[in-house]
Amino acid sequence: MPEKILVVEDEPALQETLVYNLEKQGYQVESTADGRAALDLARQLKPDLILLDIMLPGMDGFEVCRTLRREMNAPVLMLTARDDEIDRVVGLEVGADDYLTKPFSMRELMARVKAQLRRSAVIREELEKIKSTETAAHDILTFGNLLVNQTRREVMLDGQPLALKPKEYDLLLFLAQHRGQMLSREFVLERVWGWDYIGDSRTVDVHVRWLRQKIETDPATPSRIVTVRGGGYRFEG
Ligand code: CA
Repeated sequence: MPEKILVVEDEPALQETLVYNLEKQGYQVESTADGRAALDLARQLKPDLILLDIMLPGMDGFEVCRTLRREMNAPVLMLTARDDEIDRVVGLEVGADDYLTKPFSMRELMARVKAQLRRSAVIREELEKIKSTETAAHDILTFGNLLVNQTRREVMLDGQPLALKPKEYDLLLFLAQHRGQMLSREFVLERVWGWDYIGDSRTVDVHVRWLRQKIETDPATPSRIVTVRGGGYRFEG
């Protein structure tokens, strides 16, 4: 998939030159001369990079950039005509990633475009990595020697997989997700078995007993799933 670039420039000759040269480099390019149209196009295209002129009809480049910054991560390379615009361009208020002062060479432009795309690809990769390790950590609940792997629906005790019936697993997961909370039998029944389950809260007691036999060191004096006076259970971990 070629990377997508949105060109926002209201000088027809420059817009044409930019589009022509970027397409020649293999990018997929869309263009507009209008600030408001640029926002709509950006939302629709989700470009990988935006080339943005400052003086534009409709809405100026500063405003377009500020709005884009709130909505997407794509790098914005601004095209300035005056030196006194540069401080605003790179300032926090507008937050462009880079700028080029007109007139600029196509070679210079391509170098900047490539650098920005490379940078955002690295950032994206890092984000993906963080996300995947967070998900992995979140998917495994650990309570001492007891481990609940939600992705694999697997429970390990002392490094050995436990054979649990599907409802035993559901119950353990539900209790584990509400660690430290007192949960009434009725609430557990409704959440684990479903509100339309035909049965009574003794179903919960029976499953808790089974679970205790599998995960408690001494099922007669449980320390993980404790009985709470007043009619419920609490998972201690
Ligand atoms: Ca202009």
